[in-house]
Amino acid sequence: MKLKEYRTRFISRLAEVYDIVEAESLFSIVLKELKGWGRVDLAMNPDVSLTTVEHQKWDLVLEQLLKQVPIQYIFGKAHFYGMEFEVSPSTLIPRPETEELVEMVVHENRQKGKIKILDIGTGSGCIAVSLAKNLPTAQVFAIDVSAGALEAAKRNAAHNSVEVTFWQEDILALKSLPTQFDVIVSNPPYVRHVEKAEIKPNVLEHEPHLALFVEDTDPLLFYRKIAGLGKSALNSNGRLYFEINQYLGNETAALLEDLGYKNIALKKDLFGNYRMISCSV
Ligand code: GLN
Repeated sequence: MKLKEYRTRFISRLAEVYDIVEAESLFSIVLKELKGWGRVDLAMNPDVSLTTVEHQKWDLVLEQLLKQVPIQYIFGKAHFYGMEFEVSPSTLIPRPETEELVEMVVHENRQKGKIKILDIGTGSGCIAVSLAKNLPTAQVFAIDVSAGALEAAKRNAAHNSVEVTFWQEDILALKSLPTQFDVIVSNPPYVRHVEKAEIKPNVLEHEPHLALFVEDTDPLLFYRKIAGLGKSALNSNGRLYFEINQYLGNETAALLEDLGYKNIALKKDLFGNYRMISCSV
């Protein structure tokens, strides 16, 4: 079958599940990944045909996409803050909102020189690795409870040529942090079960629930624990940065205030939702 005809078939099948713009963009990603071609290459080679082997490979990807498997898991990679990251079902797919959190930490700490940074619940390592890359004089540490996530995070640090020290720890079980830090950053689980109805099937059915969900009765438990540990582990000029649940901005700010944090700043993401908070000790 000619690639052009296959494209029409591929996109019309995907349109059963995705909107047309997304279906076309998924085709472009597959074209790049499986054939190394951009749109222009296809336009310039309108008569090229897929071999039987290629056809089978493309069909396999199509089947997975129809089951709403995220394209990042199909090819095992995602892009974040201008870098490439390996992702697997034991790590969340890095989100654009989290790039904004990284941007805030980079922007506010650029002039600070040899600081120590800790990322809690690092997952794929996207926050820790991009901070290490963009704040090259900083020393970066990262914690996660999942051995699978840490393996991916270590490969991501190596792949992007940065040094990050990784520890496997359950943050909820830690009584104190092993050393002092100037910056603590975290994107912990924060989605309540009551919000499940808002979550798309590609996220709900494929991304790790361990990294996403918290109990409806205590949605801020990670924030309370991390901010509590930060009170003694942050240096006097230290700052804490969190990605947050958009519906719990005021509650998160109140929790930090109760713990004695100062200069609390709540920020919206590019979608206009309260998504980040930072404060100093
Ligand atoms: N922002 C992510 C989502 O909407 C959730 C990330 C998290 O729980 N830390 O799926």
